[in-house]
Amino acid sequence: MTQKVRVRFAPSPTGYPHVGNIRTAMFNWLLARHSGGKFVLRIEDTDVARKVEGAVKAIMDSLRWLGIDWDEGPDVGGDYGPYYQSERLELYKSAAEKLIAQGDAYYCYCSPERLAELRAEQVRRKQPPGYDRLCRNLSQEERVKKEAEGIKPVVRFKTPLEGQTAYKDVIWGQVVVENSTLDDFVLLKSDGFPTYHLANVVDDHAMKISHVIRAEEWISSTPRHLLLYKALGLEPPQFVHHAMILGPDRAKLSKRHGAVSILDYRDMGYLPQTMFNFLALIGWSLDDKTELMSRQELIDNFSLERIGKTGAIFNREKLDWMNGVYIRKLTAEEFFEAVQPYIMEDLDAGKALIEDEEYVRAVLPLVQERARTLLEVVELTRFFFVDQLEYAPGLLIGKNMDKAATAKALKAAQDKLKPLKPFDTDSLEAVLRPLAPELGLKTGQLFAALRVAVTGRTAAPPLFDTMAVLGKERCLKRIEAALAKL
Ligand code: GLU
Repeated sequence: MTQKVRVRFAPSPTGYPHVGNIRTAMFNWLLARHSGGKFVLRIEDTDVARKVEGAVKAIMDSLRWLGIDWDEGPDVGGDYGPYYQSERLELYKSAAEKLIAQGDAYYCYCSPERLAELRAEQVRRKQPPGYDRLCRNLSQEERVKKEAEGIKPVVRFKTPLEGQTAYKDVIWGQVVVENSTLDDFVLLKSDGFPTYHLANVVDDHAMKISHVIRAEEWISSTPRHLLLYKALGLEPPQFVHHAMILGPDRAKLSKRHGAVSILDYRDMGYLPQTMFNFLALIGWSLDDKTELMSRQELIDNFSLERIGKTGAIFNREKLDWMNGVYIRKLTAEEFFEAVQPYIMEDLDAGKALIEDEEYVRAVLPLVQERARTLLEVVELTRFFFVDQLEYAPGLLIGKNMDKAATAKALKAAQDKLKPLKPFDTDSLEAVLRPLAPELGLKTGQLFAALRVAVTGRTAAPPLFDTMAVLGKERCLKRIEAALAKL
């Protein structure tokens, strides 16, 4: 294969990109980067009715978040633009006209009502759906009459009634379809916009696409595309239909399995490097054991041949595990950079506290080993950033303790902490550990009460580290508040 690799991601802006869409983009991008080819972003916005406001931005944001950059596309331009299909209508029109002129396409005047009736009838008779070719052989006179009635026609492809269409899919091998099973599909709609089939073929050719890598759900469209390439006298690209992402029940991954929008995963605090690694290994593998692969390792090792033929499951537990691994790999600075935006958005936090960078930097190492998502970091550290802790007073009274003993213990701790200098992990341990036996308590009893008093929770990062970061003033204030609660 000496042909230069040019691949494209061709989303329709009909919604927010799904993890499956982005994985398709990723396979394309990986092939381009692996082979020194080009990755093109093309927006297939020809379905005016289904266009969703903000979808193009969401597509670009998703790609950028994962570091999937495009060499050509709507914003960056390129030699084969424009990259919005809605700006290329002339090209589709002239292709349709060429097909009509050479007898491979025809105008169809059937009304939406007639087509709906036809479809209903086919359903009733349990026949496969499809146009009955009523307008395929209209005479010139009949056409003129329809035009005079002011009917705006669509253009349909004159699918051969016999023969087979075959191609070799990189993943599926030889695929053969009887032409008689295909109907005369629409090429141009009455509003002058092309259908997916026509625009896709015209553009993949015009943009010199070498490999069409897309999800398996498009495999049934491919014979139609091949017939179009043939009728237009064009060389088709190579086709690579990869399997879909499945939910744990092996059904196609969908909203009912939980979040599917890639940006939701960003918002939940997954790192882009985790998501990249995780998605690349759904349906592609290096071998049967390697789980952790950097972006560069994926680029270096990527090959179409290792894309799986069967659907692979989106395993949320594995994602959580992997994100924990990537979180632990971050340097303190990287971790701070990653978490800070999430902490800044925490509505429960005190503004002055979250804006105190030095304080945030001191807090973060206490949870880096434990958190699996950045939102979890926010949860685990929230008590550091609230002005006032909220918890049920009963939480202060631990096992085999009562109100009086707890109050006494907290007061004694207060007395030890007031003069303490420096207020660090070692000095805290040095005064608090011996205090328990002095009070006739087990260390666990004293520490449990103190933990709740300073964090509002029964489980928190190590107590002395936590207190040291909170600082003397805040600890004393919180113990005072705990005593007031009792
Ligand atoms: N616009 C189609 C989509 O939304 C593109 C399919 C293809 O890659 O051909 O997925």
